[in-house]
Amino acid sequence: MFDNLSVKLDRAFKTLKGQGNITEINVAATVKEIRRALIDADVNYKVAKEVTDSIKEKALGRDVLIAVSPGQLLTKIVAEELTILMGETNVPINLTGNPNIILISGLQGSGKTTFSGKLANQFKKQGRTVLLAACDVYRPAAIDQLKVLGEQIGVEVYTEPDEKNPLKIAKNAVKYAKEHGKKSLIIDTAGRLAVDEAMMDEIAGIKKEIQPSETLFVVDAMTGQDAVNTAAAFNQRLDFDGVVLTKLDGDTRGGAALSVRKEVSKPIKYISTGEKMDAIDLFHPDRMAKRILG
Ligand code: GDP
Repeated sequence: MFDNLSVKLDRAFKTLKGQGNITEINVAATVKEIRRALIDADVNYKVAKEVTDSIKEKALGRDVLIAVSPGQLLTKIVAEELTILMGETNVPINLTGNPNIILISGLQGSGKTTFSGKLANQFKKQGRTVLLAACDVYRPAAIDQLKVLGEQIGVEVYTEPDEKNPLKIAKNAVKYAKEHGKKSLIIDTAGRLAVDEAMMDEIAGIKKEIQPSETLFVVDAMTGQDAVNTAAAFNQRLDFDGVVLTKLDGDTRGGAALSVRKEVSKPIKYISTGEKMDAIDLFHPDRMAKRILG
C-alpha cells in the first residue's frame, strides 16, 4: 500500500550518482522524498518540514552517495532522527501513591474505556489489585461498557448510577480504593466528540482535587491532523503526563506519534493495537520510527 522510503530515496539518488557527497543542491530531491514519506505516514506538515530541515543539516556532507544503497543509509539516518525526536526510550507511568491513581482523558471514541480495561488487565496480571472507576455520567452505555470489561478481566468496577457529579464519584472511588486496599485506581472520564470547555473544566477539576499520580491522554492515531490539535488543547488545560496512541492496528503508519510528541513535548507511553484486552504495548520510539518509514 505504501512505497518503501529507502526504495524511493534510491530512485532519487539514481540521478545523483557520481556527484560525491550530499550537497545543498542534490539534497533537495532527497529531502522532498523524505518529507512526502512523512506526510504519507500522517505526520503533520509543519512537523514534517521541521524534521526534514534538521535531517538536511545532518545529511549534508555525509558520504552517502558511495554507499551501495544510499537510500537505505539515509533512511537509517532519518529513523535515528525520528527515534530521538520521539524520546529514544519508553517512559514508564508513575505508580507512586497508595493507591496510585491513573486518570484517563481524551475525546469520546478515542479508546479511553477500552484502554482503561487493558491497563487494569495488565496491572492484574502483574499482581496488583486494581479498581476501575466509571466517571462518565452522561452516557450510561459507557458505564455498562466498563462493567462488562471489568467482568471479562475479573477487575472490580466502581460505579454510582444515581450520582450525576463525576468529581464526587472520583473522590468516592479513591476512598473506596483505600478502604479496600487496592494498589491501583484507574479513573475513566467522560469525553465529548470535540474539545469543549465544560468537559475540560470537569476533568481539570477532577485532576486538581484527586491529584492522580499519572494523567494520560488517549488519542486515536487514525485522526491525523486532528490528533495534534486535540493533544494541544488537552495539554493546555490538563498538563497531562503521557499519551496513549490507539488504533494502531489500523492502516496508519503512525505519524501522529511524531506530531503529537513534537506538539506537546510529552512522552507517548502506551500504544493500543486492537479491541481485545491484551492488545496493549509500551511505546518504543525506535519501533515507531521504523513503522513510520515503512
Ligand atoms: P471512549 O469513548 O474513548 O471510551 O472509546 P472506547 O474505548 O469506547 O472505544 C471506541 C471504539 O474504538 C470501540 O468500538 C472500541 O472497541 C474501539 N477501539 C478502542 N481501542 C481500539 C484499538 O486500539 N483498535 C481498534 N481497532 N479499535 C479500538
